[in-house]
Amino acid sequence: MSFEKRGALSVKVLPILEDNYVFIIEDVRTGALAVVDPSEAGPVLDVIDGRRVDLILNTHHHWDHVSGNTEIKRKTGARIIGPAAEADDIPAIDQGVHEGDTIEFAGHVARVLDVPGNTIGHVAFWFEEAGLLFSGDTIFHLGCGRVQEAMPAQMWTSIDKLRSLPPETLIYSSHEYAADNARFAVTIEPQNESLRQQIASIEERRAAGLPTVPSTLATELAANPFLRVDQDSIRSRLDSEGSANWEVFAKLRRLKDAFRELDTLCKGSKYPRGVGS
Ligand code: FE
Repeated sequence: MSFEKRGALSVKVLPILEDNYVFIIEDVRTGALAVVDPSEAGPVLDVIDGRRVDLILNTHHHWDHVSGNTEIKRKTGARIIGPAAEADDIPAIDQGVHEGDTIEFAGHVARVLDVPGNTIGHVAFWFEEAGLLFSGDTIFHLGCGRVQEAMPAQMWTSIDKLRSLPPETLIYSSHEYAADNARFAVTIEPQNESLRQQIASIEERRAAGLPTVPSTLATELAANPFLRVDQDSIRSRLDSEGSANWEVFAKLRRLKDAFRELDTLCKGSKYPRGVGS
């Protein structure tokens, strides 16, 4: 299991189901634990091995992010925090949150950011001091979440908000979609050297059985087309020179949806059953 340490927090990346990640945050000083988007309880309980869990954080209500809630809460006493707008659909939730709220975990503060798009109430959790962002199904490595419940313009506003965080921020997105995202991204920006470097790195990591999560915001700003819709290279490629950023984003997202559809038709059900990409 990969392990990343930032200041007094460490994060374990736990692969679950076909392509989901659950994140286990540990405060190094006290050993306190928090779990982000537990799609299943069993593998999480195995890893935490009888330890107490202070918090479960849910980014949105989809089943592949909340299905472990009830059992982990029952076995560990964790408090469950998730988007207030989706509280009715989040099992065993204790506290609903939205933009402007802060969460305290073992003395660390996370800010709640509203990032609608994949779902209408989707939130992200930003540990500003440690530089960690738990982005759920908004930004993925070289891609972004499918726009399912909100409008494309709302998803763009969400992504634009995340673009303004410090570039060194580590982005913990909830799915391993990098290889598929890369195949689409290179059709949009074939000359992007940063993208080519990332593709090589993705191939290497996946061949070694390693996750591509987390990435940094700086990497995404350089290589992820969905964060780069204001770049001339992408605008001319999409024949969208005079369009607003959100319109270019919407067009890019439609192309990705079609790419995904075509890929599924050509290769059988290659794309996963999750609903995020
Ligand atoms: Fe998902």
